[in-house]
Amino acid sequence: MRLVFIGPPGAGKGTQSAKLIEHLGVPHLSTGDMLREAKVNGSSVGQEAAAYMDSGRLVPDELVLQVVVGRLQQPDCQRGCLFDGFPRTLLQAETLDKYLEARDMPLHAVLELRVPESELIKRLLSRGRSDDDLETIQQRFREYTTQIESLLDYYNRRGLLRTIDGSGATEDIFSRIKSQLASN
Ligand code: AMP
Repeated sequence: MRLVFIGPPGAGKGTQSAKLIEHLGVPHLSTGDMLREAKVNGSSVGQEAAAYMDSGRLVPDELVLQVVVGRLQQPDCQRGCLFDGFPRTLLQAETLDKYLEARDMPLHAVLELRVPESELIKRLLSRGRSDDDLETIQQRFREYTTQIESLLDYYNRRGLLRTIDGSGATEDIFSRIKSQLASN
């Protein structure tokens, strides 16, 4: 099963994606992790991406797509994967679709974990990290919303979007995810 997992900072996407990859037995394709790894390895992609990542900007589509396609060619991705942090732009989404469709391995669903902004703020403030002040959190949430809106619209039009209520206990959220996938 090939899935895209979307959710704002603080929505519990990390916890749920760990449970989901274990449940489905598919690899976790987090572009954030892959780009950080490329940066540490000092590969040419990593070096190019570093400047963008260090200043909190999106890495250019071409570089991200290069990393993702390279990863998709590895044998463990044959049985499916969970995309996390990708796609982030419409061009990434369209390119991914074309790539997967040409290989007869389409996406099954796009899961959007939705948590009200007030709840996210409460969760993030209680974590107490130094960069988690109210203004920074609101700014990150606005950036996320702007970035993700056109993607949600795109996947909604393609009939792939499944919005999941991300409030409540971890196990309850995971049950909602599983039932969405079962009714797919
Ligand atoms: P993340 O861990 O998903 O927050 O990603 C960390 C950083 O990697 C982001 O701030 C971006 O600079 C870069 N990045 C990760 N995924 C993407 C993507 N799909 N498109 C562009 N840049 C990305």
